[in-house]
Amino acid sequence: MEEILFKSTRSDGAGITASEAILKGLADDGGLFVPMKMPCLDKTMDELSKMTYQELAYEVMKLFFTDFTEEELKSCIERAYDEKFDTEEIAPLAEVEGAYFLELFHGPTIAFKDMALQILPHLLTTSAKKNGVTNDIVILTATSGDTGKAALAGFAGVEGTHIIVFYPHGGVSPIQERQMVTQKGDNTHVVAIEGNFDEAQTGVKNIFGDKELAKELADKGYQFSSANSINIGRLIPQVAYYVYAYAKLVAAGKVGEGEKINVVVPTGNFGNILAAYYAKCIGAPIDKLVCASNENKVLFDFFASGEYDRNREFILTSSPSMDILISSNLERLIYKIAGEDAEANKAFMDQLTSGGKYEITPEMREQLKDFYGNFATEEETADAIKRLYEETGYIMDTHTAVGRRVFEKFKSDVPSDNVTVIASTASPFKFTRSVMNAIDPAYDAKGDFELVDELSRIGNIKIPKAIEEIRNADIIHKDVVEVNGMKDIVEKILSE
Ligand SMILES: *Cc1c(COP(=O)(O)O)cnc(C)c1O
Repeated sequence: MEEILFKSTRSDGAGITASEAILKGLADDGGLFVPMKMPCLDKTMDELSKMTYQELAYEVMKLFFTDFTEEELKSCIERAYDEKFDTEEIAPLAEVEGAYFLELFHGPTIAFKDMALQILPHLLTTSAKKNGVTNDIVILTATSGDTGKAALAGFAGVEGTHIIVFYPHGGVSPIQERQMVTQKGDNTHVVAIEGNFDEAQTGVKNIFGDKELAKELADKGYQFSSANSINIGRLIPQVAYYVYAYAKLVAAGKVGEGEKINVVVPTGNFGNILAAYYAKCIGAPIDKLVCASNENKVLFDFFASGEYDRNREFILTSSPSMDILISSNLERLIYKIAGEDAEANKAFMDQLTSGGKYEITPEMREQLKDFYGNFATEEETADAIKRLYEETGYIMDTHTAVGRRVFEKFKSDVPSDNVTVIASTASPFKFTRSVMNAIDPAYDAKGDFELVDELSRIGNIKIPKAIEEIRNADIIHKDVVEVNGMKDIVEKILSE
């Protein structure tokens, strides 16, 4: 197989291997790693349509992670996509009123981040071994809710790793807090800080940048790494489920081999939709990529005008995982449509840092024809949940509902007979209160777990293990520290 190397989006130079890129996360110049050449699927859809999720994931990941042996990669895949998922299909398709929901929430934390964070720890430890790194890897993360738990669940019990998650005390939802502080696994640590999310994030950045601390920890056999969504170890595993969705549609006779489909993705950091774009680049027959935003509609404005402008009010919505004004993964697309010109891309990113905005050229806009952007307001999102429930009984979470509403807008704007797949990014049980309030505002008077029971009843869906578990689980993590105590607690944890 042809070797694929990775390079930065911000400068040119010799490429590095996939395992090196996974270990580094971000390039030294602040750019993101991209494959120097797009590989192509080397199996037919007919062959892929007969495979299990794990087998197909291997066929996709092997194209990008070419320095992993077959045995290494298969072992990572087997350990990631196992009984921790509540269905053997891993990512099932549900046909509901004119579209297919690709349910990416059957993993241990019932949201799509599991699809990448379940495998990242194994890719990281394998990469460490391949590159002669003998230190234990310490993951540090600041979280405003969701990513923290998905990262904890992914790294829990993985030998050679430790994970420390910081979250703002009182700044995450009660369910999110319970999910984190009840996390089992000797290598997991959760610390509340007396500050907000930005302070937690700055604190983590400072610890990453502390050379003295790095040296002190290296002497004890540790090195820091991040589980950030820009790591190719998170991006590439996400490409697999789009190919899988297509293969399943072929297997079920819903599309003919080669017939194009559209994909709708509720978007925040642009990681999930970029994965769909990569799936298209390697040969999955995808026509339009529909980018769905909530009221933080920077991306809609970008597709409409060619200008990316983050200078605007940050809006808190009922789809918090999409409340983002800087979609970091968009940089990979900008680099691509700038003709893989690192200098040009860097100039845009510098403008984004200094003035909060940049405008792409007409030639670049020409290349965005495969993308369609739109957004859903809070009211439209709630309305989409209520309507689909009343018409079909199917209950979506708030993020997925943004996608569904934007799909309706797309259908009336762009004539297309293609089969459509909507990425369903979270279980409705993850955002129970917003979902139930959308169905009937009277539910707001009820307690969190009462609502869980009610959702299970009206939707006729079993309560996921992830929710049952936290109902009665013991609180394991009780540390609360001041912002300026973050470094001390990291040192303390690592000397235990
Ligand atoms: C992270 C997340 C998203 C956004 O995905 P991106 O890759 O950041 O675009 C959407 N929905 C849910 C539930 C998420 O957790």
